[in-house]
Amino acid sequence: MVKERARILVVGGGYVGMYTALRLQRKLKKELSRGEAEITVVSPDPYMTYQPFLPEAAAGSISPRHVVVPLRRVLDRCRVVIGEATAIDHAKRTASLTTLATEEEGTGSEQLVYDELVLAPGSVSRTLPVPGLAEHGIGFKTVEEAIGLRNHVIEQMDIASSTRDPAVRDAALTFVFVGGGYAGVEALAELEDMARYTARYYHNIRPEDMKWILVEASDRILPEVGEEMGRYTVTQLRRRNIDLRLNTRLESCADRVAVLSDGARFPTRTVVWTAGVKPHPILAATDLPLTGRGRLKCTAELAVDGAPHAWAAGDAAAVPDVTAEEPGRECAPNAQHAVRQAKVLGDNIAHTLRGEPLQTYSHAYVGSVASLGLHKGVAHVYGRRLKGYPAWFMHRVYHLSRVPTFNRKARVLAEWTLSGLFKREIVSLGSLEHPRAEFELAAGGKPPHHPTDDPKGSS
Ligand SMILES: Cc1cc2nc3c(=O)[nH]c(=O)nc-3n(C[C@H](O)[C@H](O)[C@H](O)COP(=O)(O)OP(=O)(O)OC[C@H]3O[C@@H](n4cnc5c(N)ncnc54)[C@H](O)[C@@H]3O)c2cc1C
Repeated sequence: MVKERARILVVGGGYVGMYTALRLQRKLKKELSRGEAEITVVSPDPYMTYQPFLPEAAAGSISPRHVVVPLRRVLDRCRVVIGEATAIDHAKRTASLTTLATEEEGTGSEQLVYDELVLAPGSVSRTLPVPGLAEHGIGFKTVEEAIGLRNHVIEQMDIASSTRDPAVRDAALTFVFVGGGYAGVEALAELEDMARYTARYYHNIRPEDMKWILVEASDRILPEVGEEMGRYTVTQLRRRNIDLRLNTRLESCADRVAVLSDGARFPTRTVVWTAGVKPHPILAATDLPLTGRGRLKCTAELAVDGAPHAWAAGDAAAVPDVTAEEPGRECAPNAQHAVRQAKVLGDNIAHTLRGEPLQTYSHAYVGSVASLGLHKGVAHVYGRRLKGYPAWFMHRVYHLSRVPTFNRKARVLAEWTLSGLFKREIVSLGSLEHPRAEFELAAGGKPPHHPTDDPKGSS
C-alpha cells in the first residue's frame, strides 16, 4: 500500500525519463487512479528522441517525426511539463523549473515539491577549448541537429555547384567530423553515402570532388563493436575514400580552417563535433553527490548514494557494473543500459512505496550494431561478428525492435519499404529553419541572415 499521496518527479524525457515514467504508470495504475500517486515528467521537448536513428534521419532514410515519440501520447497517466529543471534542493524535496510560460511572463522559475525524484537529464557534448569550435562546430545529439546537418550538407553541394571561386567550392565540399564513436562514424558514413548518391544529380560535382575527413584522437574507432570490427570499419571507410586520421586531434577551426595536430589544414564550412559526452550540467545545481567525472553517485539499485528518495540512471548516473570483473567499473553511457535501468528504476520506486525489497541492476554489455550507409554495416553482438549487408540488416531489425511504440515501428518500417521501392530523397529543406524569410522580404523587411547568403561563410 502506498503512503497517502506520492508525488513522483521525473526530470528528463529521454530514454530513462520516458521508460521510467512508462513503467511507473503501469506499476502504479491503481494508485494513480485512486489519486494516491502522481507522476510529473519535466522535459524541454514534448518528445523522446530515439538517438540511434539520428544518422538515418540525417541521411533521409527516416523522416524526423518518426525518430521521436510524443511524450503526451505514451505517458497518458502522467503530467507532462515542457520545461527545464534549473536547480534541485533535495534536502527540501524541491525542484526549480522554468517553462515557456515562466519565460514569457518573466516570473523566474517556479518551485515544485516532490516525494520521489528521478533525475535523468542525460548528457551533453563534451567539448574542448578548441578555437572556433563554439562558433562553427555542429553537434549531433538532437533531431534538430541531425536534420540541420543534412540540409547544411546539401546546401554546401548547391554552393559548390554554383560558385566560380575554387576556394569556396573546395571549402564547401570538405566535411570534417571529430570523434570516432558510433555517433561520429555513423553520422559521417550515412551522410557521405547520401552525398555520394546526391552528387549524381549535379552536373558539376563528382563524389571524388568531396573530402570527408574523420579525426579520432585514439588509435581506433567504434570501440563499441570491438577491436576487430573497428579495424574492419577503418578499412571500409578508407576504401570509400574517407580520409580517416587516427591519433589525431582537431586543434583549431577558427576562421573556418580545420587545423589538425598532424599539421594538416582544411578550409571547411562543416565541422561536426561528436567527441564524446559529459554529464548534464544541471547535476552540479543539485545537492546530490557526484563522482569526479560529474555523474550522480548511484548504488546498484539505482538510488542516489546517501540521498533517500532520489533515483537516477542513464548517461547522468554512475551505476556500478556488477557484472564487471574488475571492481569499481561503471555502466557505460549508452541506450542499452539506459532502457534496462529504467525498468529496474521504475520497479524499485514502486517497491519503495510499497515497503518491498529493491532489485539490483545487472546487465552485461552484449555488443553493438552500427550502420555505415545504405546496405553497409558492422556488428558485434552476443559474440557474433557481422559485416556489410548482414550487419546492416541486423542493425535495422535490432533498432526496429527497439524503437518505442508499435506506431513508430510501423511508420519506420513503411518508410524503409517505400525507400526501397523509390529513389532516395535528395532535397534540402533548409528554408524550413527560416519560415518567415519569404514573407518578410515580400513585406519589405530584411530577411534574417541565412548562412547560404554568404558563400565564404565569413560571418
Ligand atoms: C547519434 C547518437 C547515436 C546513438 N546510438 C546509440 C546506439 O546505437 N546504441 C546505444 O546503446 N546508444 C546509442 N546512443 C546513446 C544513447 O542515445 C544514450 O546513451 C541514451 O539516450 C541515454 O539515455 P538518457 O535517458 O540518460 O539520456 P537522453 O536520452 O539524452 O535523455 C535526457 C533527456 O533529459 C532532458 N533534459 C536535459 N536537461 C534537462 C533539464 N534541465 N530538465 C529537464 N529535462 C532535461 C533532455 O532534453 C532529454 O530529453 C547514441 C547517441 C547519439 C547521440
